[in-house]
Amino acid sequence: MFKRVGVIGGGQLAWMMGEAAQKLGIELIVQTPSATDPAVSIASHTIFASVTDAIATQELAQQCDVITFENEFVDLEALSQLAAQGVQFYPTMEAIAPIIDKFEQRTYYQKIGVPTPQFLAIDPATVNPDQWGDLNPFGFPVVLKARRHGYDGYGTFICKDVAEFTAVLQKAEQNWLLEEFVPFERELAVMAARSPSGEIAIYPVVESEQENQVCRRVYLTSALEQGVREQGAREQVEAIAHTLLTQLNYVGVLGIELFLTGDGKVLVNEIAPRVHNSGHYTLDACATSQFEQHLRAVCGLPLGSVAMTCTGVVMVNLLGFENSELNYAEQRQRLAAIPNAHIYWYGKTQSRVGRKLGHVTVLFRHGESRQETEHVAQTIERIWYPASPI
Ligand code: ADP
Repeated sequence: MFKRVGVIGGGQLAWMMGEAAQKLGIELIVQTPSATDPAVSIASHTIFASVTDAIATQELAQQCDVITFENEFVDLEALSQLAAQGVQFYPTMEAIAPIIDKFEQRTYYQKIGVPTPQFLAIDPATVNPDQWGDLNPFGFPVVLKARRHGYDGYGTFICKDVAEFTAVLQKAEQNWLLEEFVPFERELAVMAARSPSGEIAIYPVVESEQENQVCRRVYLTSALEQGVREQGAREQVEAIAHTLLTQLNYVGVLGIELFLTGDGKVLVNEIAPRVHNSGHYTLDACATSQFEQHLRAVCGLPLGSVAMTCTGVVMVNLLGFENSELNYAEQRQRLAAIPNAHIYWYGKTQSRVGRKLGHVTVLFRHGESRQETEHVAQTIERIWYPASPI
C-alpha cells in the first residue's frame, strides 16, 4: 500500500482529502502556486509551483509514492515523460489523455459506445467570417465550447441565434467544439471509483442544477432514486460508468456528468478525472466519502462502502457574489443553525463573483420529498446571497 500521495493542485478538492488522509494514515504532499491555497493547511509539505510546472512535479515525485490530481489542466506531454521514467500517476496519463480536450473526449465516447450529444470540431479561422453561420448544422440553440481549459461554465456558450453564435466565434481565435443543444429534463451526476485490481464502486446517482452553466445545487432524495430507477436511468448510468472505468483502465474517482432526456435516455456531458463538486455530499451522506475513496483507490487499499447513511441530501454551493476579502462569518453562523447542516468553508482569502467559496450539505433521515429539499436549498441561498441571487 502507498503511504505518501502527491496531489497536483491545492484547491478545495485537495483540501477535502485532508481528513480522509489523516484517517488512513496517508501523508499528502501538495503542488500548488500560492501559500493561501486551501490545501496548504492540510498538506504535510507543499511545493509552491504552478500545476503545469513539470519540473516541480519531478521534485514532488521524489517525495511520494504516487501522484494524483485535483486539477486536470496539467502538462500531459511532460508528465508522460516522467511516467516513462517510472513516476506512478493515478489516474495514469493514458487514462487522462482522451479527456483533456473536449472534442477528443466526445470522439472517445463514440469510439467506446458511450452515448453523447452530436458534435463536431470547428476552426473559424479557416472560414470566411460571413460564412460562419454555415458552420452550424444543428440549428439553434446550439452550444459552443472551448476545447481546452473550460471549467465551471467558463468556455461554454449557449447561443440562441446566429448573431450570438458569430459573436462568440469572434471573441477568441481558437478551435471549438460545437454540439447540439440537449433539451434535457434533468442533469444527473455520478461518482465512480476503480482500484488498480479492477474493483469498482459506484455512488448513488444525484441530480445537479446549474445556473449560468455553474453547479448551484445537488439533490439526492428517495423520490429521485425511485424516479431514476423507474426510468431505467440508474442502470444506464451504471453501465456507462462501468464502461468508462474499464475502457480507460482508470484508477481513482471519476466524476461523470450526464443529461437525462424527456424520453428517458442518458447522454454523457463530460467526465472529470478526479473528485468532483457533485460528489461533495458523500462527505456527510455516505459511509465512505469520495475523497477517502479516491485515496483508497490510488493507494491500492480495498474500496470502501458507498452506502448512504441517510435517506436524502441536498448540497448547495456558496458562490462568491462580489469582489471582497470578507470571511462572511455572520452568514456562516446562520447557515450552521439549519438543522442537520454541515458547512464547509474553503478559507479562500479573495471572493470573486462565481468563485466557489464553500458548500453546505443538509441531511434528511425520513423519506423527504423533493419539495422539502428544494425548500432547504432556498433557505440556504436566502441566507447566503444578498437580496437578489447572482
Ligand atoms: P464546464 O466544463 O465548464 O463545466 P459543461 O460542458 O459541463 O462546462 O457545461 C456546463 C453546463 O452547460 C452544463 O451543466 C449544462 O447545464 C449546460 N450545457 C452544456 N452542454 C450542453 C448541451 N449540449 N445542451 C444543453 N445544455 C448544455
